[in-house]
Amino acid sequence: AQMRESRIKRTKTVCTYCGVGCSFDIWTKGRKILKVEPQMEAPANQVSTCIKGKFGWDFVNSDNRLTTPLIRRGDEFVPVTWDEALNYAAGRLAEIKEAHGPDAIACISSSKCTNEENYLMQKFARAVIGTDNIDNCSRYCQTPATEGLKRTLGLGGDTGSIKDLAMSDLVMIVGANPAESHPVLSTRIRRAHKTRGQKLIVADLRKNDLAKRADILLHPRAGTDLIWLSAVTKYIIDQGWHDSAFIEERVNGFDALKEWLSTYTLDYAEKETGISKDVLIETAEMIHNAPTMSICWAMGVTQHVMGSETSTAICNLLLVTGNIGRPGTGAYPLRGHNNVQGAGDFGCAPTYLPGYERIDDEAVRAKYEKAWGVELPKTTGMDNHRMVEEIHEGNLKALYLFGEEMALVDSNANHVQAAFEKLDLFIVQDIFFSKTAEFADVIFPAAPSLEKEGTFTNTERRIQRLYRVFEPLEGCRPDWQIIRDLANRLGANWQYEHPSEILEEACGLTELMKGVRYGLLEGYNSLQWPVLEDGTDTPHLYTDGTFPFDDGKARFYVPVWHPPVLEPNEEYDLHLNNGRMLEHFHEGNLTYRVEGIREKTPYPWVEVSEQLAKERKISTGALVRLVSPYGAVKLRVVITDRVSGHELYLPMNTPKDDEAVNYLTSSYHDDVSHTPAYKEISVRMEVLESK
Ligand code: SF4
Repeated sequence: AQMRESRIKRTKTVCTYCGVGCSFDIWTKGRKILKVEPQMEAPANQVSTCIKGKFGWDFVNSDNRLTTPLIRRGDEFVPVTWDEALNYAAGRLAEIKEAHGPDAIACISSSKCTNEENYLMQKFARAVIGTDNIDNCSRYCQTPATEGLKRTLGLGGDTGSIKDLAMSDLVMIVGANPAESHPVLSTRIRRAHKTRGQKLIVADLRKNDLAKRADILLHPRAGTDLIWLSAVTKYIIDQGWHDSAFIEERVNGFDALKEWLSTYTLDYAEKETGISKDVLIETAEMIHNAPTMSICWAMGVTQHVMGSETSTAICNLLLVTGNIGRPGTGAYPLRGHNNVQGAGDFGCAPTYLPGYERIDDEAVRAKYEKAWGVELPKTTGMDNHRMVEEIHEGNLKALYLFGEEMALVDSNANHVQAAFEKLDLFIVQDIFFSKTAEFADVIFPAAPSLEKEGTFTNTERRIQRLYRVFEPLEGCRPDWQIIRDLANRLGANWQYEHPSEILEEACGLTELMKGVRYGLLEGYNSLQWPVLEDGTDTPHLYTDGTFPFDDGKARFYVPVWHPPVLEPNEEYDLHLNNGRMLEHFHEGNLTYRVEGIREKTPYPWVEVSEQLAKERKISTGALVRLVSPYGAVKLRVVITDRVSGHELYLPMNTPKDDEAVNYLTSSYHDDVSHTPAYKEISVRMEVLESK
């Protein structure tokens, strides 16, 4: 054993952080990580990584890891054995199901965990509990983008590959900050812009790194992207610059779109968005002159009451200009978490079974009922947003959640935490005692990605395999084993002994991923869905000019305009924007446990413009309290030209549970997807120390 401990080992893994899906070798000795070594054959990143992929792994050996199951007894959490915890959780779930029916229970899956674990969680909800109440955190970020894609193009994934972005003649980035949120992807764009003369248009409230390099920078009023996108689309059509042959042959609904666009004149757009007519015309001309264009977008678009509609407008613009289905073109919603794409692909959303097959389709139901040997639930399930409301209403009694810091990352955190207090049973599965875990009744200690096998799917629909670097820390178990063991205590007879069995069962049931086999994913091999039965994959969608609708044509979809909610007013006079930071990931539960990263960026700050700093007589380092109608947080100020006027920017990570941005955000949401309008929030700033 000692010999084994001292052996240096090299293991391939996939990054646990963002949706770019970088893969690399990790060199270890015992549980010590010696180095992270990217390889040329890594499909998404080759030899690149960012700071998180390179240095962000110490958390696996943190002394704060949960290593024993816990059960709440009054205000205390008591360590118990695995058998006790599993029996207790199963017994309580059975009681609640018996007393209130299966729909009184809901499950929330994890876009940080593997495809196999996500598949099992939705199977647990539907086949073991008997409810369609299953969702994952794409509800908080990218579901509106998926809606926009499905409405117009048919499939809910990036239409091309990351390499297409480097090949494009023009990249347009709307409401995204790839330099910090998707760093390796951003490097590809930066390089193409510098060396190939690729054009770059950025639309953002904040002058982020790529915005500073852009050929055209648009700074719309918050929440008005749909207006300028539609005005540019209309101008292109009015000039006769649209791709009429492509539209004629491949897209339905052009007349209805043109009619709807009639309101979106340049004058109207200038008035509503604050972007000058000249800049809008320049934007349209640059699009017209580019043989190929790709559009990337992220939470600056999706986390608005207009998220699905603006995503639809982006897809309409791509179709109008024929920028779909060719190398260097396409729609790229940049997925946030490492496996947010996979959580959706493997069925962790109400209505959709794996491969986006609808649970209300009779043929699909029959297939799953036969394969799983159960009757599927007949009622459409709740999404995350409705779950919170239904707990408050007293209709949802139990929640089983894994790998998700919902208490801090769902919007209106006080409202969400008040809901957790009302649950009869809350089962939380995590690697740390998170804020969410504080509300739990049972806590299962899980294993991070380095301690398990399985697959992740990145933003470009690429399924990649991760290998186990370490044995799970003593006392911890991979999530798929915990879900399996809980299911078996509730009468299932799941015999899975390895994630490969789960992957092959899951993919074999879908049309989209039919040909995926674990063996095809050895080493750095990967597959981009759709994957045909013979194992052929699809790096670029729609290249044959057909779309997955009955007549094979794409669709222009007429969006609906809603004005932004919660605009600044007398009491809350500043607009608060928020998002990620390069060094930390998401809420920061992992990266604040990495010593090097924590030392470099120990806490978040609020970015304030020079103009506002002068008005309020504050300097960098001032202490302020931001107050919204929903809560308050205290932070230090950084004065920067990244933000302007009365706009603030607050990173979403924090080492302190009571200072998360979501104490300020509201419960307003996009009507189509129920994604919270995180980016629509007004606050007032109270100066506590001006510095
Ligand atoms: Fe990981 Fe994303 Fe950084 Fe790549 S770009 S190393 S996937 S965090």
